[in-house]
Amino acid sequence: MESIQTVVVGAGVVGLAVARALALAGREVLVLEAEGGIGEHTSSRNSEVIHAGIYYAAGSLKARLCVDGKHRLYAYCAARGIAHRRCGKLLVASTPDEIPVVRGYIAKAAANGVHDLRELSLDEAHAMEPAVRIAAAVHSPSTGIVDSHALMLALQGDAENAGAATVFRSPVTGGRVTDAGIVLDVGGDDPMTLRACEVVNCAALGAPALARAIAGVPAAAIPREHFAKAHYFTLAGRSPFRRLVYPVGHGAWLGVHVTIDLAGQARFGPDITWVDGVDYRFDAAREPLFVEAIRRYWPDLPDGALVPGYTGVRPKIHGPDEPAPDFRIDGAAVHGVPGLVNLFGIESPGLTASLAIGAHVARLLGLPDADADRHADGIDTAQAA
Ligand SMILES: Cc1cc2nc3c(=O)[nH]c(=O)nc-3n(C[C@H](O)[C@H](O)[C@H](O)COP(=O)(O)OP(=O)(O)OC[C@H]3O[C@@H](n4cnc5c(N)ncnc54)[C@H](O)[C@@H]3O)c2cc1C
Repeated sequence: MESIQTVVVGAGVVGLAVARALALAGREVLVLEAEGGIGEHTSSRNSEVIHAGIYYAAGSLKARLCVDGKHRLYAYCAARGIAHRRCGKLLVASTPDEIPVVRGYIAKAAANGVHDLRELSLDEAHAMEPAVRIAAAVHSPSTGIVDSHALMLALQGDAENAGAATVFRSPVTGGRVTDAGIVLDVGGDDPMTLRACEVVNCAALGAPALARAIAGVPAAAIPREHFAKAHYFTLAGRSPFRRLVYPVGHGAWLGVHVTIDLAGQARFGPDITWVDGVDYRFDAAREPLFVEAIRRYWPDLPDGALVPGYTGVRPKIHGPDEPAPDFRIDGAAVHGVPGLVNLFGIESPGLTASLAIGAHVARLLGLPDADADRHADGIDTAQAA
């Protein structure tokens, strides 16, 4: 049986960032990916927003890794020439009753170490986004957008330059914990069994199922998976928005907001539907719900301007009526299996946090943070704003 030091399961943005961090720290890394290429699931079906770190509970992994990850990501994009834009975002109250919610974001962000949010005067806000109905607005200047595929290519390139290998069409179908490491069964065209000292489960939508398929991982340490589908509609024609616009969210999600891509095209979403499994079919019948939500803050949305865009599925570990839990990045202290790290519930802001998650997993495995002082490579995490 072949042996390898470290296996990372999943070649989405998180798996690739983890592989990069571990390979740069000196580990021999093999990335096993079920699909034929990188980022075919969650990492290519999201809003591509670099989140500032506003909404998450102070001290949570989501808050800490989002803020740390944002700094790392801006520095990394600049150093690697990855397309991105620090376009900023307006958090908007469209009715008087929403004003306290929007103002509350300033203190919430400050509790996470994000001190650059500022309430705008109505004149300033209208000058920034004339099309939007605004009762009050808070500006987040450190929010941005990134080309997620270019980011993944750069992460994969770094990992492979440091000796990692990525193997596609290689689903991990099961395995077992042994005294001499973790044995993994790999399917695909050339099925194989291999032994690893360390396994990092970055399978996202498939992470709980993979953990269950490895005999010896305690069932009590594996959450149940839930899937929440998101639709995006794009706007036909020229965008009236120059930055991201987030209306006040209602319920457990952030609301139908405006994001723009790097070409300047506006898209609206995400919404949320709880589904039984991974299902990317687009339900165009949701259009009227989008129109109603968008006209609350953009009354001039023309009839027929929304075009079906794409869907994504959030890898959740909580059900519809439960509060959203923190990211789970579980090492041996949680499940008792030396060398195993399970990542569960890495939904938003996982893209923003990806580089920080890589560093966090490295620390869990007793390895140094490969980016801590990589000033020579232009990755200056201390200086980046
Ligand atoms: C609708 C939506 C909007 C979002 N918007 C944002 C945003 O704007 N900003 C932000 O920061 N974050 C956002 N996120 C979150 C972000 O997209 C995710 O946190 C991130 O992409 C997760 O990356 P990942 O590598 O863990 O998952 P994935 O990209 O899903 O990668 C997991 C990989 O594991 C593979 N795999 C699964 N099982 C196996 C197996 N058994 N064997 C081998 N391979 C396997 C899959 O094929 C897949 O390629 C959003 C998420 C969603 C769903």
